Amino acid sequence: MSKEKHFKKERTLIMIKPDGVQRSLVGEIISRYEKIGLKMIAMKMMIPTEKQVEEHYTLDPEWRRVTGEKTIKGYKAKGMNPPSEDPFEITDKILAGLKKYMTSGPMVLMILEGAHAAAIGRKISGGTEPLTSDVGTIRGDYVLDSYQMSDVDGRAVRNLLHASGSAEEAEMEIKHWFDAKEILSYRLVQEQIIYDVNLDGILE
Ligand code: ADP
Ligand code: MG
Repeated sequence: MSKEKHFKKERTLIMIKPDGVQRSLVGEIISRYEKIGLKMIAMKMMIPTEKQVEEHYTLDPEWRRVTGEKTIKGYKAKGMNPPSEDPFEITDKILAGLKKYMTSGPMVLMILEGAHAAAIGRKISGGTEPLTSDVGTIRGDYVLDSYQMSDVDGRAVRNLLHASGSAEEAEMEIKHWFDAKEILSYRLVQEQIIYDVNLDGILE
């Protein structure tokens, strides 16, 4: 791997959704990502438009199918019938719900950089459905929504945050939400202990 694109340069986009802001969990959520060693290189607060939300979720042409299928699987794993067998019908409703959810108040958006940033960001965030997200993850620890409850109520699952699904997804999402000039390039002191190969800068 070339020096220009070292592992430590991978990026992920984290968005604290309006429920995260309203529940005063911004500090708690950021601290989880900070503590694992990811570096914040951009952050801002904003109320997005519905258009921005729709564009965000449809950057990946596969999102509609994959998210619909994931929902169907989630229902079946619990021995329940999904609201539809057609993943696209499911995501039409989800997208409408997401536009309402994510434009309902301010969100906090940030870009985090570090080794395996996308995979680590997803691991800490937890699975999409809070009911089944692992204990110890942000979604598993701080929110109790489910596919069933949100579908019955005709709204999006409230799961506090968005975290990019992969480094490639992150690159597209970052371009969508941030201008290049909003992204800062700087060194964090702790990067030395995390990434330095020789650890020869510690002893006096
Ligand atoms: P993730 O945010 O974990 O990447 P997806 O990309 O599959 O999840 O879905 C985007 C968002 O849409 C989720 O975070 C959640 O808020 C909402 N969502 C997903 N599936 C459903 C569903 N079956 N019912 C309601 N909302 C959903
Ligand atoms: Mg996703």
